[in-house]
Amino acid sequence: MTKTVACSRNPIARTPSWVISGRHVHAEGRAGTSRNRQNLVKQVFSSIERANAVLAGGCDSPVRSGWAVGGPIFVQSRAEGAYAYDEDGRRYIDYIMAYGPLLFGHTHPALTTGLDEIAKHGFVWGTTHPEEIRLAERIREYLPSMQRMRFVTTGTEAMMSAIRAARAFTSRSLILKFAGNYHGHFDLALLDAGASAHTSDTKASGIPEGVVRDVAVARYNDLESVDAFLIGRENQLAAIILEPIVGNMGYVAPIDGFLEGLRERTQRYGALLIFDEVITWLRFGLRGAQGRLGITPDLTAIGKIMGGGAPIAAFGGREEVMAVLAPTGSAFTGGTHGGNPFSVAMAHRVIDLLETHPEYYDHMRALAERLAGGIRSIFAERGLPYAVVQHESIVDFKFRSGGPNRDYADALAADGEKYAAYWQRMLRRGILLPPSQNEVMFVSTAHSAKDITNTLAAISESL
Ligand code: PLP
Repeated sequence: MTKTVACSRNPIARTPSWVISGRHVHAEGRAGTSRNRQNLVKQVFSSIERANAVLAGGCDSPVRSGWAVGGPIFVQSRAEGAYAYDEDGRRYIDYIMAYGPLLFGHTHPALTTGLDEIAKHGFVWGTTHPEEIRLAERIREYLPSMQRMRFVTTGTEAMMSAIRAARAFTSRSLILKFAGNYHGHFDLALLDAGASAHTSDTKASGIPEGVVRDVAVARYNDLESVDAFLIGRENQLAAIILEPIVGNMGYVAPIDGFLEGLRERTQRYGALLIFDEVITWLRFGLRGAQGRLGITPDLTAIGKIMGGGAPIAAFGGREEVMAVLAPTGSAFTGGTHGGNPFSVAMAHRVIDLLETHPEYYDHMRALAERLAGGIRSIFAERGLPYAVVQHESIVDFKFRSGGPNRDYADALAADGEKYAAYWQRMLRRGILLPPSQNEVMFVSTAHSAKDITNTLAAISESL
């Protein structure tokens, strides 16, 4: 989940760097050769200061900046199993799990050993190869709606490409999306996006006006808002895009009839339904959200978990829709790293693991239930009015009274300051939570019952 954050909100930007670094040593008055000085610079300035001096905003993806929780940037030195380690070697139970991809924790041996076997054949070939074909066949077995597919590198690319295919197939431009869903960082996806994307000022966010004209942003779980946006524009609609189960405005499940209503409307208007299963495929089983919910989209995007940590994603769907892609059609998508043999081999390992260990899902669900149940008990004891949601290995609660989030307005009503204080206290107790309230806690196969017990103790002390 990546994203854009307004600078004015940054509590660190106004703070001298030595204040935010616990590792700083003053450099004033020291002299020496230029090489000494260079070494000194490295020693004297903390990683946070160095990051801010050389990476835009100190990070590659805005959520990592920590701005939403009052900073500082969490600088990680290594990872193992369910744990992240900071530069001082301190261990944290990790619930970020790379924002979703790490279903097996950081270092499952089936994914981290024997990599030279893969690497010795090369990382990228730029040609079609049998393992890529076999991977597509395996994916289609579990997601039969993906009759034809194409491999790409990131979820952003997968969704961007699926939308291009939909527009080419329908010869229409209008895309209807939902506030609080996150589909990556391409232009139209950022309008009212969830996760940590803040792009209400579209001009300042670099989103062209022309793009805005071709997008309608409706309220999740609200078919009336869909209808209101489409009145008079039904014949312009190319596609409705959504996360069928949302993980980017906290955890949000579709209410009864919502997905069915979207399926019916897209069919009625001659438009396509695109499911973004970048988080949900493999998190909710090999058949993903679509298998679970019994709704068949026209196009699907997948990514994250499928590479076991290696970057690979895919989009695909109905044969006649995918036929619009060049060379059979005129819509171009392509990429140097698409279907590269290294990431493809990693994806096979991920599917192998899940096929040979069906008990993994039971393990993760049991831990997540224990975590959610424990949090509910703590809230009940303290009279705290927050709803805890858990679905498979996702656990989530927001600092807001009332039921679980149903849409983005609910997500925005949560108390950000309370979350920031809670996040900081949890960090001090060795628990690494996502540094934004729009994200969720991911449990992995590497987490243990003891981790959950320790986490619950930390929650109890931190609230
Ligand atoms: N779709 C969903 C549902 C996501 O959560 C994300 C990333 O968080 C994306 C798409 C974009 O994927 P990537 O970050 O790999 O570009």
